[in-house]
Amino acid sequence: MTNDKAVVVFSGGQDSTTCLFWALKNFSEVETITFDYGQRHKLEIECAASIASDLGVKQTILDMSLLNQLAPNALTRHDVDITHDEGQLPNTTVDGRNLLFMSFAAIVAKQAGARHLITGVCETDFSGYPDCRDIFIKSLNVTLNLSMDYDFVIHTPLMWLNKAETWHMSDELGAFNYIQERTLTCYNGIIGDGCGECPACKLRKAGLDQYLATSIQGGA
Ligand SMILES: [Zn+2]
Repeated sequence: MTNDKAVVVFSGGQDSTTCLFWALKNFSEVETITFDYGQRHKLEIECAASIASDLGVKQTILDMSLLNQLAPNALTRHDVDITHDEGQLPNTTVDGRNLLFMSFAAIVAKQAGARHLITGVCETDFSGYPDCRDIFIKSLNVTLNLSMDYDFVIHTPLMWLNKAETWHMSDELGAFNYIQERTLTCYNGIIGDGCGECPACKLRKAGLDQYLATSIQGGA
Protein backbone atom coordinates (compact mmCIF):
# COMPACT_ATOMS: atom_id res chain seq x y z
CA MET A 1 0.00 0.00 0.00
CA THR A 2 1.52 3.29 -1.06
CA ASN A 3 -0.66 5.59 1.02
CA ASP A 4 -1.04 4.41 4.58
CA LYS A 5 -2.30 7.63 6.11
CA ALA A 6 -5.74 7.88 7.69
CA VAL A 7 -8.03 10.61 8.99
CA VAL A 8 -10.49 9.69 11.76
CA VAL A 9 -13.72 11.65 12.25
CA PHE A 10 -13.39 12.17 15.97
CA SER A 11 -15.80 13.52 18.59
CA GLY A 12 -14.25 12.22 21.79
CA GLY A 13 -17.12 9.78 22.29
CA GLN A 14 -16.93 6.03 22.79
CA ASP A 15 -17.46 5.10 19.15
CA SER A 16 -15.03 7.50 17.51
CA THR A 17 -12.39 6.87 20.17
CA THR A 18 -12.67 3.14 19.47
CA CYS A 19 -12.21 4.01 15.78
CA LEU A 20 -9.15 6.08 16.65
CA PHE A 21 -7.52 3.14 18.43
CA TRP A 22 -8.48 0.90 15.49
CA ALA A 23 -6.83 3.36 13.10
CA LEU A 24 -3.68 3.59 15.20
CA LYS A 25 -3.41 -0.18 14.99
CA ASN A 26 -4.02 -0.38 11.25
CA PHE A 27 -2.32 2.69 9.75
CA SER A 28 1.17 4.05 10.07
CA GLU A 29 0.03 7.67 10.18
CA VAL A 30 -3.21 8.91 11.77
CA GLU A 31 -4.83 12.32 12.11
CA THR A 32 -8.21 13.35 13.50
CA ILE A 33 -10.85 15.85 12.51
CA THR A 34 -13.39 17.21 14.99
CA PHE A 35 -16.46 19.26 14.15
CA ASP A 36 -17.41 22.16 16.38
CA TYR A 37 -21.07 22.89 15.77
CA GLY A 38 -22.03 24.59 18.99
CA GLN A 39 -22.38 21.46 21.03
CA ARG A 40 -24.37 21.80 24.19
CA HIS A 41 -21.12 21.39 25.98
CA LYS A 42 -17.84 22.80 24.87
CA LEU A 43 -16.55 20.01 27.08
CA GLU A 44 -17.09 17.64 24.15
CA ILE A 45 -14.47 19.51 22.12
CA GLU A 46 -12.16 19.73 25.11
CA CYS A 47 -12.56 16.01 25.76
CA ALA A 48 -11.71 15.19 22.14
CA ALA A 49 -8.73 17.54 22.20
CA SER A 50 -7.37 16.02 25.38
CA ILE A 51 -7.60 12.47 23.97
CA ALA A 52 -5.96 13.49 20.68
CA SER A 53 -3.17 15.20 22.58
CA ASP A 54 -2.79 12.28 24.96
CA LEU A 55 -2.48 9.80 22.08
CA GLY A 56 -0.15 12.11 20.17
CA VAL A 57 -2.31 12.52 17.06
CA LYS A 58 -2.89 15.72 15.15
CA GLN A 59 -6.39 17.16 15.49
CA THR A 60 -8.05 19.58 13.10
CA ILE A 61 -11.09 21.31 14.59
CA LEU A 62 -13.47 22.69 11.99
CA ASP A 63 -16.03 25.34 12.81
CA MET A 64 -19.39 23.97 11.67
CA SER A 65 -21.51 26.46 13.56
CA LEU A 66 -23.49 27.13 10.40
CA LEU A 67 -25.46 24.04 11.40
CA ASN A 68 -27.17 26.36 13.87
CA GLN A 69 -28.75 28.10 10.94
CA LEU A 70 -29.86 24.84 9.37
CA ALA A 71 -31.43 23.27 12.41
CA PRO A 72 -32.43 25.46 15.30
CA ASN A 73 -33.24 22.57 17.60
CA ALA A 74 -32.05 20.95 20.78
CA LEU A 75 -28.67 19.97 19.45
CA THR A 76 -27.47 23.46 18.83
CA ARG A 77 -29.69 25.71 20.92
CA HIS A 78 -29.31 25.53 24.64
CA ASP A 79 -32.87 26.58 25.44
CA VAL A 80 -34.54 23.51 23.96
CA ASP A 81 -34.77 20.17 25.76
CA ILE A 82 -33.60 16.99 24.11
CA THR A 83 -36.43 14.54 23.58
CA HIS A 84 -36.22 11.10 22.07
CA ASP A 85 -39.52 9.33 21.47
CA GLU A 86 -39.20 5.63 21.01
CA GLY A 87 -39.03 4.58 17.38
CA GLN A 88 -38.34 8.09 16.14
CA LEU A 89 -35.22 10.05 15.40
CA PRO A 90 -34.19 12.23 18.32
CA ASN A 91 -34.98 15.93 17.89
CA THR A 92 -31.25 16.53 17.69
CA THR A 93 -31.33 15.38 14.08
CA VAL A 94 -29.87 17.64 11.44
CA ASP A 95 -30.74 16.23 8.03
CA GLY A 96 -27.64 15.35 6.06
CA ARG A 97 -25.28 16.12 8.91
CA ASN A 98 -23.09 13.10 8.31
CA LEU A 99 -23.01 13.83 4.57
CA LEU A 100 -21.63 17.28 5.38
CA PHE A 101 -19.18 16.01 7.97
CA MET A 102 -17.79 13.29 5.71
CA SER A 103 -17.44 15.69 2.79
CA PHE A 104 -15.47 18.17 4.89
CA ALA A 105 -13.39 15.34 6.33
CA ALA A 106 -12.53 14.20 2.80
CA ILE A 107 -11.36 17.69 1.82
CA VAL A 108 -9.13 17.86 4.89
CA ALA A 109 -7.86 14.33 4.28
CA LYS A 110 -6.90 15.00 0.68
CA GLN A 111 -5.03 18.14 1.70
CA ALA A 112 -3.22 16.10 4.35
CA GLY A 113 -2.31 13.50 1.74
CA ALA A 114 -4.48 10.86 3.40
CA ARG A 115 -6.49 8.36 1.41
CA HIS A 116 -8.25 6.56 4.25
CA LEU A 117 -11.26 8.04 6.02
CA ILE A 118 -12.52 6.40 9.20
CA THR A 119 -15.88 7.02 10.80
CA GLY A 120 -17.73 5.36 13.67
CA VAL A 121 -21.14 5.39 12.00
CA CYS A 122 -23.22 2.34 12.63
CA GLU A 123 -26.40 0.80 11.31
CA THR A 124 -26.95 -1.24 14.43
CA ASP A 125 -27.34 1.46 17.06
CA PHE A 126 -31.02 2.12 16.30
CA SER A 127 -30.39 5.81 15.75
CA GLY A 128 -31.86 5.49 12.28
CA TYR A 129 -29.88 8.27 10.61
CA PRO A 130 -30.17 7.56 6.88
CA ASP A 131 -26.71 9.01 6.17
CA CYS A 132 -25.12 6.60 8.64
CA ARG A 133 -26.26 3.55 6.69
CA ASP A 134 -23.78 1.32 4.92
CA ILE A 135 -25.44 1.87 1.55
CA PHE A 136 -25.04 5.63 1.92
CA ILE A 137 -21.37 5.37 2.92
CA LYS A 138 -20.66 3.21 -0.13
CA SER A 139 -22.48 5.68 -2.34
CA LEU A 140 -20.66 8.63 -0.79
CA ASN A 141 -17.31 6.92 -1.25
CA VAL A 142 -17.89 6.79 -5.00
CA THR A 143 -19.13 10.39 -5.06
CA LEU A 144 -16.15 11.71 -3.09
CA ASN A 145 -13.72 9.89 -5.35
CA LEU A 146 -15.37 11.33 -8.44
CA SER A 147 -15.69 14.81 -6.93
CA MET A 148 -11.99 15.11 -6.11
CA ASP A 149 -10.47 12.60 -8.55
CA TYR A 150 -8.90 10.80 -5.60
CA ASP A 151 -8.98 7.23 -4.34
CA PHE A 152 -10.52 7.61 -0.89
CA VAL A 153 -11.37 4.49 1.05
CA ILE A 154 -13.98 5.01 3.75
CA HIS A 155 -13.68 2.57 6.65
CA THR A 156 -16.55 1.95 9.05
CA PRO A 157 -15.24 -0.54 11.61
CA LEU A 158 -18.37 -0.27 13.77
CA MET A 159 -20.97 -0.49 11.02
CA TRP A 160 -22.42 -3.87 12.00
CA LEU A 161 -21.57 -3.90 15.69
CA ASN A 162 -23.97 -3.37 18.57
CA LYS A 163 -22.82 -1.41 21.63
CA ALA A 164 -21.66 -4.53 23.47
CA GLU A 165 -19.59 -5.59 20.46
CA THR A 166 -18.06 -2.12 20.27
CA TRP A 167 -16.91 -2.53 23.89
CA HIS A 168 -15.50 -5.89 22.89
CA MET A 169 -13.54 -4.28 20.08
CA SER A 170 -12.13 -1.67 22.45
CA ASP A 171 -11.06 -4.49 24.73
CA GLU A 172 -9.35 -6.32 21.87
CA LEU A 173 -7.55 -3.09 21.03
CA GLY A 174 -6.33 -2.87 24.61
CA ALA A 175 -8.28 0.35 25.12
CA PHE A 176 -11.23 -0.77 27.24
CA ASN A 177 -10.32 1.10 30.42
CA TYR A 178 -9.13 4.15 28.53
CA ILE A 179 -12.37 4.43 26.60
CA GLN A 180 -14.50 3.80 29.65
CA GLU A 181 -12.76 6.51 31.65
CA ARG A 182 -11.83 9.15 29.08
CA THR A 183 -14.66 9.36 26.54
CA LEU A 184 -17.76 11.52 26.69
CA THR A 185 -21.18 10.19 25.73
CA CYS A 186 -23.40 11.91 28.29
CA TYR A 187 -25.76 14.68 27.19
CA ASN A 188 -25.07 16.33 30.54
CA GLY A 189 -21.37 16.58 29.82
CA ILE A 190 -20.03 14.13 32.39
CA ILE A 191 -16.99 12.19 31.12
CA GLY A 192 -16.73 8.44 31.67
CA ASP A 193 -19.79 6.70 33.07
CA GLY A 194 -21.76 9.95 32.80
CA CYS A 195 -24.89 11.08 34.66
CA GLY A 196 -26.55 7.71 34.26
CA GLU A 197 -29.91 9.34 33.57
CA CYS A 198 -29.87 10.72 30.02
CA PRO A 199 -30.70 8.54 26.96
CA ALA A 200 -27.05 8.49 25.84
CA CYS A 201 -25.87 7.25 29.23
CA LYS A 202 -28.57 4.59 29.37
CA LEU A 203 -27.63 3.31 25.90
CA ARG A 204 -23.94 3.25 26.78
CA LYS A 205 -24.51 1.50 30.09
CA ALA A 206 -26.81 -1.11 28.53
CA GLY A 207 -24.09 -2.02 26.01
CA LEU A 208 -21.42 -2.10 28.67
CA ASP A 209 -23.50 -4.28 31.00
CA GLN A 210 -24.27 -6.63 28.13
CA TYR A 211 -20.60 -6.91 27.25
CA LEU A 212 -19.48 -7.44 30.84
CA ALA A 213 -22.18 -10.08 31.35
CA THR A 214 -21.03 -12.14 28.39
CA SER A 215 -17.26 -11.72 28.51
CA ILE A 216 -14.33 -11.80 30.80
CA GLN A 217 -12.94 -8.31 30.40
CA GLY A 218 -9.37 -8.31 29.19
CA GLY A 219 -9.62 -11.93 28.17
CA ALA A 220 -9.85 -11.19 24.48
ZN1 LIG B 1 -25.80 11.29 30.89
